[in-house]
Amino acid sequence: MDGNYKEIIKRHYDTLASKMNVDKVVMHLHNLNYLTDDMKGRLDAERSRITRSRKLLEMITSKGRISFTSFRIALIKAGDLLLAKELLEDSKQLSGKQDQLERSKPLVIDLDKSEEKSEFGSDNTSENGSSQRSMINIGNNCFVVAKTYKGELNVHIRQFEETKAGRLFPTKKGVVFPLPRWALFMNLEPDISDCLKSYSELESEQCWHLGGGVYAKINSEYPTVNIRHYWKPDDAEQPVPTKRGVMLNKFRLDNLRDAMEKLKEFVPEIEDAVPCMYGDDHMNQEGMLRCPECSPFDYEKYC
Ligand SMILES: [Zn+2]
Repeated sequence: MDGNYKEIIKRHYDTLASKMNVDKVVMHLHNLNYLTDDMKGRLDAERSRITRSRKLLEMITSKGRISFTSFRIALIKAGDLLLAKELLEDSKQLSGKQDQLERSKPLVIDLDKSEEKSEFGSDNTSENGSSQRSMINIGNNCFVVAKTYKGELNVHIRQFEETKAGRLFPTKKGVVFPLPRWALFMNLEPDISDCLKSYSELESEQCWHLGGGVYAKINSEYPTVNIRHYWKPDDAEQPVPTKRGVMLNKFRLDNLRDAMEKLKEFVPEIEDAVPCMYGDDHMNQEGMLRCPECSPFDYEKYC
């Protein structure tokens, strides 16, 4: 993978050097601790954007410190979505790992139309102003649910359980995504899937900050991605995991990817949702530090 990745960077060298939003990419790589203060200092000392870009690409291809995934995440965070996408597509071609497996279609329940509506009647339009748009099963009663609560539309990945009578009810095990957070998750999902495929080769735990207190993690011990809300008690140095989360294996993650596409039909607002970090108020680091999605705890980065 790493050898391939250097080859891919070389292929896209000119485009990356001329087009990438280098200052933001550097800022994100530095925040994520992939660039040391010294490395960042040397980059900042470059006078022009293009020489700074070249220097960064040189650092990336010559040192093992920055992985393909982290570089892509930095590109995505910097708003260079197209570049990040091209790199990923190229890497798939090069590794010849195009996964063409036909997957069974996840069960879709459109609550506005389906007979199932009565099943979720109490949730669908309740007095507290919540209403549910759709539920997509991604395996073992884990559902992607779009739901409005107190006027705000969120997407949930939530574990349901079944009563003896076969009635489904939601549990506390789940993750909540306001739409901008969901938009970021959709951007990062290819990286997460890619990483899960070769989880056993990971040298260290991989972590993606999805926004707010929500993180996705993969380590070399288990073939799963753990997506979970974290919170930081006042006396704790680091955020701690809560029970609000889901573990997804490859099967569920594949279904989740299909569900992301399917969900756009029921929730067209998703197409317009933009991760907060692309906003004008995030152009500098201070803006990000003030944003509860980007800096949920009282310090910059936890990953
Ligand atoms: Zn933000």
